[in-house]
Amino acid sequence: MVSFVFLHLSSVYPLFFLEFSGEASLQCSNAPHWLKGLIMTKLEKIIIHWSASAYYPNATDLEHYHFVVDKDGEVKPGKYKPEDNLNCYDGKYAQHCGGGNTGAIGVSFCGMAGFKNAKNPGKYPLTFKQVESGFKLCAELCKKYNIPINNVMTHYEFGKLHPNTLSAGKIDIIYLPCYPNVKANEIGAFIRQKIKWYKLKFFS
Ligand SMILES: [Zn+2]
Repeated sequence: MVSFVFLHLSSVYPLFFLEFSGEASLQCSNAPHWLKGLIMTKLEKIIIHWSASAYYPNATDLEHYHFVVDKDGEVKPGKYKPEDNLNCYDGKYAQHCGGGNTGAIGVSFCGMAGFKNAKNPGKYPLTFKQVESGFKLCAELCKKYNIPINNVMTHYEFGKLHPNTLSAGKIDIIYLPCYPNVKANEIGAFIRQKIKWYKLKFFS
């Protein structure tokens, strides 16, 4: 789920959102100190989202995530490449994780519009085929960019870890309709286990 407030502020007032990028980051050696948090030399993490839209990607989804996974498990690349998020100072990057976009790949499952809770998940609950495809994609990205699986987290987890950012309070992903018994606070670990399995099987 994208933070539109963040998008607006980040594009209009780049120095404003610098205040919210409270993450330890690599800096380009010659970058001024105020660029801290906006430029990195390596992609370091993957943030997993749901789009809170319908089952197939719309233009907004494609603009704000590097990869979207539709209902059928098809992976579609977004407008920006993961490498575009190494430098978020130029404004040309996928804005998917307020306070944590720099060095972060955004993978999103299309769906969950209208989600209220497990009993009322809306008309677009994520499908088994969809999430498994997304987990496999993350395994491939971990291999390609040498990202530790422990650096893959849901947007929900990122918000919990960074309560002073605009990602705080995000609910993607607190419920996996195809794995209804996995509790909200266990979903990140569950997903990392899945990614580990896919990486061993296909990308080791
Ligand atoms: Zn999100």
